[in-house]
Amino acid sequence: MSKLNFIDGQWVAGGTERPNINPSDINDVIDNYAEGSASDVDPAVDAAAQALAPWQALGIQARSDILDQIGNRVLADKQALGRLLAREEGKTLPEAIGEVHRAGSIFKFFAAEVLRQRGELLESVRPGLDVSVTREPLGPVGIITPWNFPIAIPAWKIAPALAYGNTVVFKPAELAPGCAHALIEIIAQCGVPAGAVNLVMGAGSTVGDRLVKHPDIRGISFTGSVATGSAIAASAASRLAKVQLEMGGKNPLVVLDDADLETAVDCAINGAFFSTGQRCTASSRIIVTPEIHDRFVEQLQHKMAALVVDNALKEGTHIGPVVDDRQLAQDLDYIAVGQSEGATLLTGGEQLERQTAGYYLSPALFVDTDNHMRINREEIFGPVASVIKVADYDEALAVANDTDFGLSAGIVTRSLKYASDFKARSQAGMVMVNVPTAGVDYHVPFGGTKGSSYGSREQGSYAREFYTTVKTAYTFAG
Ligand code: NAD
Repeated sequence: MSKLNFIDGQWVAGGTERPNINPSDINDVIDNYAEGSASDVDPAVDAAAQALAPWQALGIQARSDILDQIGNRVLADKQALGRLLAREEGKTLPEAIGEVHRAGSIFKFFAAEVLRQRGELLESVRPGLDVSVTREPLGPVGIITPWNFPIAIPAWKIAPALAYGNTVVFKPAELAPGCAHALIEIIAQCGVPAGAVNLVMGAGSTVGDRLVKHPDIRGISFTGSVATGSAIAASAASRLAKVQLEMGGKNPLVVLDDADLETAVDCAINGAFFSTGQRCTASSRIIVTPEIHDRFVEQLQHKMAALVVDNALKEGTHIGPVVDDRQLAQDLDYIAVGQSEGATLLTGGEQLERQTAGYYLSPALFVDTDNHMRINREEIFGPVASVIKVADYDEALAVANDTDFGLSAGIVTRSLKYASDFKARSQAGMVMVNVPTAGVDYHVPFGGTKGSSYGSREQGSYAREFYTTVKTAYTFAG
């Protein structure tokens, strides 16, 4: 049976359907998922607008309990959801289960956050008045997500939207609708009023575009590519809707001469290649000072040789497939670009055949690269990393910051002086010392600078900034 859209508390068919294909085994169709059209968005937005009052009328205890129940259900189902995630997106089963766990934890965090809503009471500069500052929900919000974290990203947008009293129309990525659908199934069973959360699956150019342009959608929270994000920002701004964008990265990992070699190599392997390099926080530029350079590259190559690339569901797999044929073609194209730019492809970058037909690519490492090459400036979004050799810490910092992006930046060093300086002077929104550039906590803000993010931060209590608007009220007691 195919999987339907969820509008105003009902499961409804879209105009057409789209198969959800397992990238580890392209003969495995997980299911067919509804493909809505622009006209499916309007009833979903109407339902979300109607549901605002009943959702808010439930009160904070009931809203908190519902979010907590959703979190518990996600955690209880994490094996099955993790399997679905690994099957549709291609990250390994342990990575997928970890992502589901994170999604459940996020709902539980925001369940508590519902009870922490607070305002301020201030004295007025005018005698006899007092002033209160409170937060109010935006209204119906549109949530648009990418395929690479198909349950965690929806969770970190839907949970705060609901926690702060908003209602939701959610459009997941076409490539990975399975976890989105499963999450909405859980939400639908946990007592959320009809219309408070709606799911419209379908293309970005139709469903996504209508959502961004709908006059009753007061805010759009988007995660995806820079090109799509900037078009959404321009469109939302033209009708003065609030917008929050999380986009790409070209994240540097600096390895200094005094680094612990094993830590440096582990950070590089994890940051660059785990989750098939398909993370916005992936370390794609590894910036290394001269004394450690050769030892680091040799050890990295050695450990890369032991990485098992195979079916995401198979035990022992370190790296699953690339998500689809288009992404694979993009990765291979960038590998050719790197070679034509004069970089040395030290290892990997080959399409692999496995027992099941899938989009397998061996992790690729370029050396002899410089920061002007396209492979070091553009987001590849695959298991491809470059080593950039620099003279010293100052050059490493300058190269790390010389990018259009600013999501995550890491340094591996034993020096408190360099670690502190890097934390202060890195232009990224998230800085990692002796840990990979990817892998973050769920209760603290997530986001970047420059081309990586736009608008206020996601996650933790900082999410309140986007999902609420401020009201200042003056009272004259008489
Ligand atoms: P994408 O921009 O192609 O698509 C993202 C979402 O936007 C999808 O749901 C898509 O259908 C929708 N969309 C496309 N065109 C649209 C339009 N005109 N109007 C409205 N919606 C539209 O990105 P993707 O390929 O799914 O994801 C990969 C990108 O996401 C990478 O660039 C990656 O860095 C980024 N990403 C960023 C973060 C972060 O938090 N910074 C996290 C994960 C992924």
